[in-house]
Amino acid sequence: MKTITHWIGGKPVEGTSGRFGPVYDPATGAQDKQVAFATTDEVDAAVDTAKAAFESWGTASLAKRTAVLFKYRELLDARRDEIAALITAEHGKVHSDALGEVARGMEIVELACSIPQLLKGELSTQVSTRVDVASIRQPLGVVAGITPFNFPAMVPMWMFPVAIACGNTFVLKPSEKDPSASYRLAELASEAGLPDGVLNVVQGDKVAVDRLLEHPDIAAVSFVGSTPIAKYIQMKGIEHGKRVQALGGAKNHMLVLPDADLDFAADQAINAAYGSAGERCMAVSVVVAVGDTGDELVGKIAERAKGLKIGPGTDPASEMGPLITREHRDKVASYVSGAAAQGAEVVVDGTGYSVAGHEDGFFLGVSLLDKVPVTADAYQDEIFGPVLCVVRADTYDDAMKLINGSRWGNGTAIFTRDGGAARRFQLEVQAGMVGVNVPIPVPVGYHSFGGWKDSLFGDHHIYGNDGIAFYTQGKVITTRWPDPADSGGINLGFPSH
Ligand code: NAD
Repeated sequence: MKTITHWIGGKPVEGTSGRFGPVYDPATGAQDKQVAFATTDEVDAAVDTAKAAFESWGTASLAKRTAVLFKYRELLDARRDEIAALITAEHGKVHSDALGEVARGMEIVELACSIPQLLKGELSTQVSTRVDVASIRQPLGVVAGITPFNFPAMVPMWMFPVAIACGNTFVLKPSEKDPSASYRLAELASEAGLPDGVLNVVQGDKVAVDRLLEHPDIAAVSFVGSTPIAKYIQMKGIEHGKRVQALGGAKNHMLVLPDADLDFAADQAINAAYGSAGERCMAVSVVVAVGDTGDELVGKIAERAKGLKIGPGTDPASEMGPLITREHRDKVASYVSGAAAQGAEVVVDGTGYSVAGHEDGFFLGVSLLDKVPVTADAYQDEIFGPVLCVVRADTYDDAMKLINGSRWGNGTAIFTRDGGAARRFQLEVQAGMVGVNVPIPVPVGYHSFGGWKDSLFGDHHIYGNDGIAFYTQGKVITTRWPDPADSGGINLGFPSH
């Protein structure tokens, strides 16, 4: 069985803990790999290496840093297919979707290539006689990233390219469920010329995460994952004096007004609800049908849902792959039967689905639940699977009350032809990312990504300008070059103009 190791100081490091996690091929259900789980000593070794590397990387010229990043971007471009195949093998998503993930991750590497422009400071000359003031931003030191299973390449790339472009060194703890993509990203960074120790990967579980949160030499922690763990990371990180950004779970609502193009809305609901088997933090998991659109819209979604091709991610004909684990698949399925018992109408039932020749794979069909009571678990919980809930609302105001009553506020979207309604929605809705006729409004690399409420803990969103701010600390320098002819003199008063 293949063992996935750590990557520390620019080389593979075997684990010594004797603890391993299983890595499955979700399409077959077979375990053909295992991942080493780090000890606290191994985490310490990665942090020590990163700390030593910071000595030179933190002061390396912008020209040197960008030369590596441009080369890295070229390597990623050449290896898109290979990285996507690694994602499909361990996550299960279809190859075209995995390629999309790599492309969206590369966007952040491209952003990082423009770091000289992004890190430019501010200068005010002559604020007082012969006095200038400059604001600059400097790296923090060693920073850590802890990432979820659902985007094993893109989410790490939301973090480390920006962090290292700013001059930090990085320790990444990827999801133990699909760790190979992160490992490969680190290997390729070395190939691109990134000095040893600047980007390290420690594999593992809570033991590794807790050590990163406690380690005195870690200055900041970026986390993306579920809400309960995000809260935990924030509290524990702050307790240990770290800067923390912790992105959590979601329940994203798509509001459909009666004037919307219902065929377009149905297509977009299908793509956003069932793409990547619903295992996206920006997946649409609730459609709110306003007025008398409900029956027609549900009919159109159901008709499309029944035609989806589900199969292994390696089959180019598959539109949706399996779920990440057997346990997760079964838990998602339990929400469908649970919703029926709690008053929802099951319009499409995807439970009990199997793919011929892949009977042990973690497959689940797509489910569509209509008239879901807001008290039902299927509405209240983040299911994170191919289950779309439809909730009916009489008016726009009722719909907004529902959406703004959610404890999450990651993404949301409105489908309408009415510009005035769309504008009102943008301003009134309580979520960090809003789409107008765009179901998954993941911001491009040069805008920042992040939700509100239980979808993000901390002050900074991720990548874009917020990413630069998160991974740097500001310094303001006040300079005077007095005229030798001036005597200065003694004055104990507080300096003013
Ligand atoms: P998860 O919270 O289970 O795991 C995320 C990371 O935390 C992993 O590296 C894992 O090893 C670690 N971890 C898990 N339990 C821990 C514990 N008790 N103590 C310390 N560390 C622990 O999340 P997941 O299942 O891998 O990913 C799915 C979740 O991530 C969903 O809730 C999804 O919405 C969320 N997500 C959010 C965003 C976003 O941008 N807001 C993006 C992607 C995924």
